[in-house]
Amino acid sequence: MTAVDNVLISGASIAGPALAHWLERHGIRAAVVEKAPALRDGGYAIDLRGKAINVAERMGILDAVHERTTQIARISMVDADGRRKAGIDPGATSSPDRSLEILRGDLVDLIHKTTTGTEYRFGDTITGLDQTGDGVRATFAEADPQTFDLVVGADGLHSNVRGIAFGPEAPYRRFLNSYISIFTIPNHLGLDREVRAHNTPGRFSAVYHSPRAEGAKGLLLQRIDEESDIDRRPREEQMAYLREAFGDMGWETGRILDEMEDAPDFYFDSVTQIKMDTWSKGRVTLLGDAGYGPSPMSGQGTSLAMVGAYLLAEALAQHDDPATALAAYETRMRPYAVANQAIADPGLAFLAPRTAFGIGARNLLLKAGPLLSALGRFDTKLLKASEAVDLDAGK
Ligand SMILES: Cc1cc2nc3c(=O)[nH]c(=O)nc-3n(C[C@H](O)[C@H](O)[C@H](O)COP(=O)(O)OP(=O)(O)OC[C@H]3O[C@@H](n4cnc5c(N)ncnc54)[C@H](O)[C@@H]3O)c2cc1C
Repeated sequence: MTAVDNVLISGASIAGPALAHWLERHGIRAAVVEKAPALRDGGYAIDLRGKAINVAERMGILDAVHERTTQIARISMVDADGRRKAGIDPGATSSPDRSLEILRGDLVDLIHKTTTGTEYRFGDTITGLDQTGDGVRATFAEADPQTFDLVVGADGLHSNVRGIAFGPEAPYRRFLNSYISIFTIPNHLGLDREVRAHNTPGRFSAVYHSPRAEGAKGLLLQRIDEESDIDRRPREEQMAYLREAFGDMGWETGRILDEMEDAPDFYFDSVTQIKMDTWSKGRVTLLGDAGYGPSPMSGQGTSLAMVGAYLLAEALAQHDDPATALAAYETRMRPYAVANQAIADPGLAFLAPRTAFGIGARNLLLKAGPLLSALGRFDTKLLKASEAVDLDAGK
């Protein structure tokens, strides 16, 4: 007997549909509630690394991921006049078969297509959760209330389920003293599978092109000392903040800022991790960014969501008591989450050094050859973290 038979999942991005896939495989019913009116397509490129690739293979989607891969061929660091100061050949450090890049929307679509037995409820959200001992009664903005055996928050960094079950975000959030913005702009530089980036101390401005995506992406990253509430302010104020913070940066940054105004998908947020002592409360648990978001600086959020979904479903299938199953999920997943969250700090330091000396030193090290450089060491660490879980240990 399984611990649960009827699961409600909040969030239809990566973690939610991946969990639905594995619950279906274990014969457990699931419904997914998503606040957006439909699956979101396109988006930025994300990574599947290490054990997440094994999970994708077991899901039967790995060949399709390969067909849609958006692997970047060249990364160039340029000066204020656009002259190349250093470069990275991503293939020289990463192990190509253990690190795959794909558009977030493509991965969501591939996973979603495997979950034909799952009910999706778009355009709705959970408004309340009432634990009744042997179930959780959920109320919704749109649908009628319903009782489930388990509720899973797979609704991202600012998780609604986490807010309802565990309270406000503040105690669980680790701010990495940075803001990030990303949005679609025209591909003026004519890039082809390339990232072109410029640094000044504490700032990183980049344009990159991924095949299968419209135009190019503008990406702005700023390291700061003091946190403000700009990530919670209206979009117009965030754009004004970026113009002020990046306006004097040189290179293509002025054009990126001009084009930001018309971007259809402007994204701005603090660079934040989620760290919690426990991911479960009674019959409510958290998965992916909602429970252990590692921040975009780790590049491991997608892989954590994929592996977490696999391990959570397996634990629910193997134990006949939800508390034991959720404890087993945490025991196996926590070291993996911790190892991959640890990647974010060196990732941030590498991308946006705080001083001119740091930028020069990084570029010099890049020239020394990828395998000798800071990038080589960082990449080794990243790949090691991405492999640091035994998917079969629970069998
Ligand atoms: C700018 C940026 C760059 C990134 N780069 C990378 C990268 O290079 N590599 C990488 O691996 N990862 C990257 N990530 C992180 C990656 O996108 C996430 O870690 C990953 O998407 C986590 O998946 P998730 O399903 O847990 O959460 P999310 O993808 O955040 O999905 C949450 C879902 O929940 C839905 N939702 C939210 N609130 C509610 C609600 N109230 N009710 C119902 N549904 C709700 C949302 O609409 C969304 O569909 C990046 C993230 C950002 C923002």
